Amino acid sequence: MRKVLVCGAGGFIGGQLVKKLKKEGCWVRGVDIKHHEFANSPADEFIIGDLTRQEIVEKVLDQPFDEVYQLAADMGGAGYIFTGENDANLMFNSASINLNIIHQAYLKGVKKIFYSSSACIYPAYNQKDPNNPNCAESSVYPAEPDSDYGWEKLFSERLFQAFARNHGMQVRIARFHNVFGPEGTWTGGREKAPAAICRKVAEAEEGGQMEVWGDGLQTRSFLYIDECLEAVERFMNSDFEGPVNIGSEEMISLNDLAKMVMEISGKKLSIYNKPVSYEGVRGRRSDNTLIKSKLGWAPSRPLREGMAKTYEWIAAEVAKTVPV
Ligand code: NAD
Repeated sequence: MRKVLVCGAGGFIGGQLVKKLKKEGCWVRGVDIKHHEFANSPADEFIIGDLTRQEIVEKVLDQPFDEVYQLAADMGGAGYIFTGENDANLMFNSASINLNIIHQAYLKGVKKIFYSSSACIYPAYNQKDPNNPNCAESSVYPAEPDSDYGWEKLFSERLFQAFARNHGMQVRIARFHNVFGPEGTWTGGREKAPAAICRKVAEAEEGGQMEVWGDGLQTRSFLYIDECLEAVERFMNSDFEGPVNIGSEEMISLNDLAKMVMEISGKKLSIYNKPVSYEGVRGRRSDNTLIKSKLGWAPSRPLREGMAKTYEWIAAEVAKTVPV
């Protein structure tokens, strides 16, 4: 039986990963600073602990696990990572977590460790054209991420690679591009665009207005959680170390994403494009050339299908908050 540690198991991707690993028959220890907000974790053990603290990491990573998934990070959507207000916290917290975990994994002889990096490491100068962004893995240098969140991810990629190079560790580094789905943060300031748009549509009255940040012409690509976890599994079972993009090549503007969700909901709303200073790059899309050639992986389903499932879940969450 595979023994697995999931760091960040109380979060969106970590929570869904624990469920999948349990279905596959693994023994799973989850760790997070908080319990999952939307689901009861099926982990065999769930430890509440702050992974910025070395003594906690020593406690949770106390044996040579077959696999460790390092997903814990101080993160959020554009309203959290691009305003500049949280930079010291998110850099200090996430870097401390990563330093502690890779060092302890090395000391304990962990067999394989997965690190979740981000599309936010890619240089801003390659993402100015909304119709033609370049996020090929090889385009990362000269580095110019547009956020300190991205700089920390780039540092930690290099940290994991250095441990692989100098200590012969088996690392797998993936750069996630906007992963979304049910049981992810949908309110409170850390939610990302797909969840925020679903919430705004669910909360709006028919014929009303919804807000989209910026001019709404900025483009992104979004990957449904099940597709993401399938790619992670293939990656972990391969000999390829990465870094590799795990994302979708189906690019859409934020206004069109809002219209897609309106159409799913059956509501007709007008869009108010709110000017903000933290809307991020003009265009971003996963480039899947490398993952196709190394792992034979590409998303199998269209964006709309995942958005429909996500809208259904968020609309039900919103309904729970409305007084009867
Ligand atoms: P999430 O915020 O839902 O999960 C991260 C988890 O880390 C949270 O549950 C949080 O409580 C936990 N955490 C934070 N600080 C901690 C600490 N000090 N000790 C213990 N736990 C702590 O985010 P997610 O969407 O599930 O993302 C998982 C990983 O993937 C993160 O590293 C994130 O940066 C990366 N990523 C996600 C996306 C995406 O679109 N969801 C895109 C790129 C990269």
